[in-house]
Amino acid sequence: MDKIKMITPLVEIDGDEMTRIIWAQIKQILLEPFVELNTEYYDLGLLNRDQTDDQVTVDAANAIKKYGVGVKCATITPNAQRMDEYHLKKMWKSPNGTIRAVLDGTVFRSPILIDKIKPVVKNWEKPITIARHAYGDVYRDVEMRIEGEGKAELLFTAKDGTTQRALIYDFEGPGVLQGMHNKDKSIESFAHSCFQYALSAKQDLWFSTKDTISKTYDGEFKAIFERIYNETYKDSFEKAGITYFYTLIDDAVARVIRSKGGFIWACKNYDGDVMSDMISTAFGSLAMMTSVLVSPDGNYEYEAAHGTVTRHYYRYLKGEETSTNPVATIFAWTGALKKNGEKDHNQELIQFSEKLEKAVLTTLENGFCTKDLSALYEGTEPTALTTTAFLEKVRETFDAA
Ligand code: NAP
Ligand code: MG
Repeated sequence: MDKIKMITPLVEIDGDEMTRIIWAQIKQILLEPFVELNTEYYDLGLLNRDQTDDQVTVDAANAIKKYGVGVKCATITPNAQRMDEYHLKKMWKSPNGTIRAVLDGTVFRSPILIDKIKPVVKNWEKPITIARHAYGDVYRDVEMRIEGEGKAELLFTAKDGTTQRALIYDFEGPGVLQGMHNKDKSIESFAHSCFQYALSAKQDLWFSTKDTISKTYDGEFKAIFERIYNETYKDSFEKAGITYFYTLIDDAVARVIRSKGGFIWACKNYDGDVMSDMISTAFGSLAMMTSVLVSPDGNYEYEAAHGTVTRHYYRYLKGEETSTNPVATIFAWTGALKKNGEKDHNQELIQFSEKLEKAVLTTLENGFCTKDLSALYEGTEPTALTTTAFLEKVRETFDAA
């Protein structure tokens, strides 16, 4: 059988620890036998980031800009303990943060569902994808404690020296203050990424803020989304049979819980931080969450939502066989290959990716899984396999299909 060919290179971003081991195994067992992988490889393993003064991370992000699609393995974000462990020159920044800054993208997280593992919310039948605006608000705020009576004001000085002022509060005693900002440009990028992703996933887009209370700040988010939708996406949404729906955050929370799922929920930074933890926990396991970074000009980077699974890696180094769940990393690859195939009109590659995803789901439905999932099954007693045995089982299912 001839291997499937790829036209445009896919940006392959390798990473650290247990996920780096799994990365190589996925390629060897599930991809390379069938696809002539055409990738441009970037090694973001911590040692190489250190050796290149983190230039490799910037290069990888630029390569995604050039080729349009990337797939990324989980990477270590260094802290003091990692500085010692790897004898680093510097405490390098989070690679995901660096890549996001270059691509100006939004992260979309969705769960992978199987029938045998039910979400905590019983009426959720389809995945709910959270899109979190990852700029500004309380994450870039300025805070102040004041110790007594006095007037707090908001002051803006324009470049030409003119000013805008507003009274925040006339304090009669001690208290606290908080200043936040956001930029039209960042909100616009966020909106474009959300509309693009909704079209690509063919799912409705919900957006929620608290504009009844925050009339200017949240009101601007609402207005920008509405304007961009009407200017750029209305026709394509109608053609695709999907809708854009705005509602208040508290109403959105109630509707999400009552819903069947199957839509994208765009959230402001804080809402997205909180709600994505709720959604992923309610759907079951971090090891079953995928993540994709979408830039406003339509570039895509796929990865698993979990980290490098350090504890398993230390056991692996001692020679133990681990049962680390590779599903989200497999789906990062299939998501990226599918998108690469879509951009190149490479039907064979799209079909291969879909078939591989199906083989993973069938393997799980048949009761073969990794240890993290075995306690979550309902109705059947699953067989917990090692990572390698699970990947081989998926290969068996794939070959049989
Ligand atoms: P983590 O790697 O996601 O692991 C946390 C725990 O969750 C694991 O110890 C494991 O629990 C369980 N888990 C996560 N993924 C799993 C999988 N695929 N299969 C089975 N169990 C899984 O998070 P962390 O320990 O906080 O971070 C480890 C490193 O990853 C850190 O250096 C951090 O900087 C990095 N990180 C990277 C990314 C990224 O690149 N996107 C994201 C988050 C964290 P048990 O040990 O109980 O089995
Ligand atoms: Mg959080």
